[in-house]
Amino acid sequence: MAGASGIVGEYLELRAEADADLLAMQLGDFYEFFCADAETVADELDLKLTEKRSGGERYPMAGVPVAELTAYLKALVERGYRVAVADQRETDDGHVRAVDRVVTPGTLLEADGAEARYLAAVVRHAGGYGVAFADVTTGRFHVTTVATADDVLAEVYRFDPVELLAGPTVRDDADLVASLGADGERRVTEHDADAFAPGQAAHAVREQFGEAAAESLGLDEAAVRAAGAVLDYVAEAGLGVRRSMTRLSPYRADDHVALDATTQRNLELAETMTGGDGGALLDVIDHTVTSAGSRRLSAWLTRPRRDVALLERRQAAIGALVDAPLPREAVRETLEGASDLERLAGRAVHGSASARDLLAVRATLELVPALADRIDGAPALADSPLAATFDGLDPDAAATLRDRLEAALADDPDAGLFRRGYHDELDAVVGRYEEAREWVDTLAERERARHGLSHLSVDRNRTDGYYLQVGKSEAGAVPDGYREIKTLKNAKRFTTDALEEREREILRLEERRDALERELFDALRERVADRADLLRAVGRALAGLDVRAALAEHAAANGWVRPSLDGDGVEVEAGRHPVVEQTTEFVPNDLRLSADRRFLVVTGPNMSGKSTYLRQAALVVLLAQVGSFVPADRARVSPVDAIFTRVGALDELAEGRSTFMVEMGELSNILHAATEDSLVVLDEVGRGTATYDGISIAWAATEYLHNEVRSLALFATHYHELTALADHLDRVANVHVAAAERDGSVTFLRTVREGATDRSYGIHVAELAGVPAPVVERAREVLDRLRRERAVEARGAAGGTRQVVFDLDSGTMAPGEGGQDAEAPAADGAARDPDADDVLADLREVDLANLTPAELLATVEGWQRRLEDE
Ligand code: ADP
Repeated sequence: MAGASGIVGEYLELRAEADADLLAMQLGDFYEFFCADAETVADELDLKLTEKRSGGERYPMAGVPVAELTAYLKALVERGYRVAVADQRETDDGHVRAVDRVVTPGTLLEADGAEARYLAAVVRHAGGYGVAFADVTTGRFHVTTVATADDVLAEVYRFDPVELLAGPTVRDDADLVASLGADGERRVTEHDADAFAPGQAAHAVREQFGEAAAESLGLDEAAVRAAGAVLDYVAEAGLGVRRSMTRLSPYRADDHVALDATTQRNLELAETMTGGDGGALLDVIDHTVTSAGSRRLSAWLTRPRRDVALLERRQAAIGALVDAPLPREAVRETLEGASDLERLAGRAVHGSASARDLLAVRATLELVPALADRIDGAPALADSPLAATFDGLDPDAAATLRDRLEAALADDPDAGLFRRGYHDELDAVVGRYEEAREWVDTLAERERARHGLSHLSVDRNRTDGYYLQVGKSEAGAVPDGYREIKTLKNAKRFTTDALEEREREILRLEERRDALERELFDALRERVADRADLLRAVGRALAGLDVRAALAEHAAANGWVRPSLDGDGVEVEAGRHPVVEQTTEFVPNDLRLSADRRFLVVTGPNMSGKSTYLRQAALVVLLAQVGSFVPADRARVSPVDAIFTRVGALDELAEGRSTFMVEMGELSNILHAATEDSLVVLDEVGRGTATYDGISIAWAATEYLHNEVRSLALFATHYHELTALADHLDRVANVHVAAAERDGSVTFLRTVREGATDRSYGIHVAELAGVPAPVVERAREVLDRLRRERAVEARGAAGGTRQVVFDLDSGTMAPGEGGQDAEAPAADGAARDPDADDVLADLREVDLANLTPAELLATVEGWQRRLEDE
């Protein structure tokens, strides 16, 4: 294809220059893709693949109409492609085409929907990492510096960017890149390494935010490098996108409750582990009525806070809304009319806002005084932090902009963009236009009356312009001055001098009206763009109000309470799992973690509710640190610095990774990173290996967490042995999820009680699950034998021949004797001599240091005799 000429040649040339996965090139009314790109696009978007013939060759081709390009670009970009767009421009010498913009997942301004679309940059710097997240659709731009690759992943997981720029040394770390790219789910772009260079990045930041921005925001070099790379990339994506980024917000990762990526996944905050729809915490509690509100709630959940004063302000606002159902309803109803100002501001700045967008801005600004009134008018709300909802916003500026839009825009943009009285010349043009149209519209009637032509009509189409149409039967009777322009089967079309003159006038006026409207509209949009910061501030205020009202709504509907954020530990009365309680008749449970009881070993049969209890504990603490109410009758939570979870590794199993390795990796992270102020939730640690290994690891981890780390911890286990730790470690206590046994079957009670479970119900569960009766019976027998005798034989077929014996104490198998004697437990294939055991015991006890050689000799002699006696 190297020799392609003509259009395809031009395409391939542009394609080679463009740094993109795909190129869309405009050819008149279509944007076309050729060759491999055409095949990709046809496949992804279900487009028809055609062929272009050129220079005797055939090339695959796929195209989309100009008007639909944005929709197709969105679809491609959402699938992770970077698409270059070459627009066609008319010049004196014909068409020229050039790539003016590259649309990428992280720079797509046209995005709608509630979800944020972050573009991230990660750069390694001086032993740590600079991380930046920018959402060009809302102008949000966060930067921070973190210490380790795990911290980077935790932040990336929180913001869940759609595209990530990996800095020069980051991209050399294949494992990190794979994790950053969520194993192929997220686009990782290798942007120009120079953009990450300290000098160039600092320059970009200064250019965008002012000379002293980095200093006044307190950004260190790592953060500046990440922010600069984002700016550089956004600039490359096309004009206008970068203009919408007006504010840089540095944050400290430790203002948030640390939630590593695994924990965020385990707790199913924004999505479930299986990725299915619904069932995540966000799905259940999201009663926001605006997309900006929903986005904010998601940010709150993934970034719980540690600042008690801030959390208490959120609580107080939510509490006021809980206590005032009618005002709450009124606020929520009013908010329903709000559009996404954060995004609309971006579109105004970018120049892509439509008339409907500006109308939406107007309608949303109109809600501000109404909402302020609703808050002021309800004493409960007025006395709460909600009174400050619109503080810091310039009410005059908002009112001015609103009035301006009100004065300018007609309510229905389809019938003319601007109101009468907004612009004299436009009014005059529209007035004359309407007069001319009126003349044409009434022409048929006048002509029918004047000339007695009952089948005369007036119409307009593309080729003939305006015309008078007269039926065949009357066509001969038209007056002088009618000039025929077309003959149809049953009619003839005519025009007249007067009609032609009006037509010219109408065309002229239409043109003038359109040009004026465009000019006025651009000016108006610029006005709105100038106020982007104000709009974003209003948008944030509305989103904040929406979130608080939504959480209040959920709390009121589900009987949630305001937790107090003090004390030492976590105390919950009648707590529930926020998601499970929605679909189940939930049995509430208490939880008590306190200074003298920081580590709970949770036992109970399989399927009794241990995991649910653990996650419930983590979610109650998390919700408390979101500032939300929590599912309980009463709750007290001392704020934690981090929540760590390690729960059943189903997902890794599905991915075919070594589950046990993953499990131990997670445990290792927790043991390293947790502090005395952390909450650690461990579900069945050590299950992925042999029993003895597993118990040993769980045992040692418990001791370490208890003695060294001293975190608040819940540890669910089916190793009954671990319950013994409570007797020896001060701050360890046992609780169990109760089950009752009746007639050999188990009923799960779902209540959590003090103390350890007394036995394993695994076999009952097996029975309930329909495991064949002989297996269940034999399992009972084996369990019984293991408990009594610490050993059991392996039974062969045909009459139960004993072939090998398993010894629980040594964990080994030994050959059996092939006899029927199931009663004699034996480890070594022979019955054990009780005297030999005694001798061995003595041998172990012998105090060599205090025996003379002669005494030793005598002792050994004594043993020999005892053995011979037998
Ligand atoms: P385990 O971890 O002990 O195997 P799970 O926590 O997975 O058990 O719970 C088993 C089932 O019991 C789940 O379907 C869960 O929804 C339900 N469940 C757990 N706790 C409760 C409760 N307190 N009230 C009602 N149903 C519960």
